[in-house]
Amino acid sequence: MTRGARLVILGKQGAGKGTQGERLSRHFKTQHLSTGQLFRDSAAVGVPAGLKAKEFMDRGELVPDEIVVDVVAERFSNPAEVQDGFVLDGFPRTAKQAEELDRILGERFPLDLVIDLDVPTDMAIERLLGRGREDDTRDSIRRRLELYDQETKPLIDLYRGRGLLVRVDGVGEEDEVFKRLLDAIDATGEVPEA
Ligand code: AMP
Repeated sequence: MTRGARLVILGKQGAGKGTQGERLSRHFKTQHLSTGQLFRDSAAVGVPAGLKAKEFMDRGELVPDEIVVDVVAERFSNPAEVQDGFVLDGFPRTAKQAEELDRILGERFPLDLVIDLDVPTDMAIERLLGRGREDDTRDSIRRRLELYDQETKPLIDLYRGRGLLVRVDGVGEEDEVFKRLLDAIDATGEVPEA
């Protein structure tokens, strides 16, 4: 039976996870699941969980694990969704979320690869200020990068320890970075083609 690629993209905000995650999902013909985008969409139409999440997002804080995990668990409650593969963008962001992701995927659907899309902090800040999203104020950007170091960066070691991690340099033109991603993914031989 065919199945889709199961990928996670880690990286600072401003690393290009959204753009490259979208392109990867098109390439591998999987869904692109961005928890940040889900919250923005649900807040925009007034869904209570989305409005609650927005309070945290606007301050640059992480949305509490329970809220985020519920959203992902619900999306993946249908095994067909998982079978067809996914690019997870912006999840997991904490050790607790990584643990819950293992539980949600179970032994049937282990991750193929975790990509660490890496850019220097100065460049991430510059890109975030440039894109002008509502939650991209100087204070919230600083706080998010701080939380990335504290909460999310440790996941790099966790996944490296499992032999799942691939680091890709996120500096450069969008096309160039995308090619680098595909080459790095191909080189592992771990990810099924679309
Ligand atoms: P993003 O679209 O990935 O830049 O996320 C925007 C904001 O949504 C983040 O700054 C967090 O406040 C929140 N968020 C998105 N994903 C998560 C997550 N996995 N855990 C906690 N907060 C999240």
